[in-house]
Amino acid sequence: MKYLDEYRDGEVARKIVHEIHRIQTKPWVIMEVCGGQTHSIVKNGIDHLLPEGVELVHGPGCPVCVTPLEMIDKAHAIARRPEVIFCSFGDMLRVPGSDGDLFTIKSDGGDVRIVYSPLDCLKIARANPGKKVVFFAIGFETTAPANAMLVSRAREDKAHNLSVLVSHVLVPPAMEAILQSSQNRVQGFLGPGHVCAVMGYREYEPMSVRFRVPIVITGFEPLDILQGTLMTIRQLEEGRAEVENEYSRILGREGNRPAQRLVDSVFEIADRKWRGIGTIPNSGYTLRREYCDYDAEKIFSVEGIDTREPEICISGQILRGIKKPHDCPAFGTLCSPQRPLGATMVSAEGACAAYYAYGRHLNKEKENNELRVLDGAA
Ligand code: SF4
Repeated sequence: MKYLDEYRDGEVARKIVHEIHRIQTKPWVIMEVCGGQTHSIVKNGIDHLLPEGVELVHGPGCPVCVTPLEMIDKAHAIARRPEVIFCSFGDMLRVPGSDGDLFTIKSDGGDVRIVYSPLDCLKIARANPGKKVVFFAIGFETTAPANAMLVSRAREDKAHNLSVLVSHVLVPPAMEAILQSSQNRVQGFLGPGHVCAVMGYREYEPMSVRFRVPIVITGFEPLDILQGTLMTIRQLEEGRAEVENEYSRILGREGNRPAQRLVDSVFEIADRKWRGIGTIPNSGYTLRREYCDYDAEKIFSVEGIDTREPEICISGQILRGIKKPHDCPAFGTLCSPQRPLGATMVSAEGACAAYYAYGRHLNKEKENNELRVLDGAA
């Protein structure tokens, strides 16, 4: 399949891995930012193909994982109301809050619907004028344009029975927070390919200079990850710190300008809480004042809900690259995808869920058996 098969070619992988082994002289810690990249690394055993001194740590770029627990609880409080039709992408339905999930609320009689596009909510609102339709608008910069489109269209259509519960977060402030931490181990980044398809990568350039850190915008297929890792290690070995673009078949430096303008017209930058991490200044979007009539948090008065994470969970340290899922005493025992305790086990793209899915909660022999597409490439 075009743009898939050629990025899964074992022979090419073998050459890139050989080059990584050839040029690497020092130990390096590299963070892949996106949950999709983490999933690809664990699924394909890419971390096992790298030299012993090169460690991949897993970043905060899984949108379901970093949506705070209190925002899940707010969504559930709204979805339980009899006058509400609560709409969401499917991956949020099984995310547990303090008391059940959206599937439970649906089975208890709540009107919870899966949508495939935010604009579907507009049709639902038109068809149900006596109901209040709420869309759960979560995610990174990647999903912000479609969510902004929904709010903009709702105002044009005078759809006063539609609102959005916004929990949008932004990648660059989270990367800066990681680099500023006294515990930081990260020396280079595989940057977020999908986010940069919308936003471009200009805003990463000052960060790269300020923190002297290579940032290679990287895709999601096995060869993307390997090539991004090679480019990052090459910069580190040569003492360079620049932004480079491995994912040039998809994106350019400027990103998608019309999408950026649409987002800016509906949202403004605000502080946001990240699940497992805490509040990061200027790290998310909130609705602009002129769109406050579409803000579900205000309409349903759920702003005061506050929730605490289980103390055993170290997902905050995992999302900052300080620890790995194996380091958690609950991994694979008290905590599993069926009974997730924390952020990184909640979504299939979370680091703990990816480790679990590919058998890394089992023994080493089993783990080695899970090396798939690139088996034998080293
Ligand atoms: S295994 Fe579960 S409890 Fe442990 S860090 Fe991961 S999500 Fe948290």
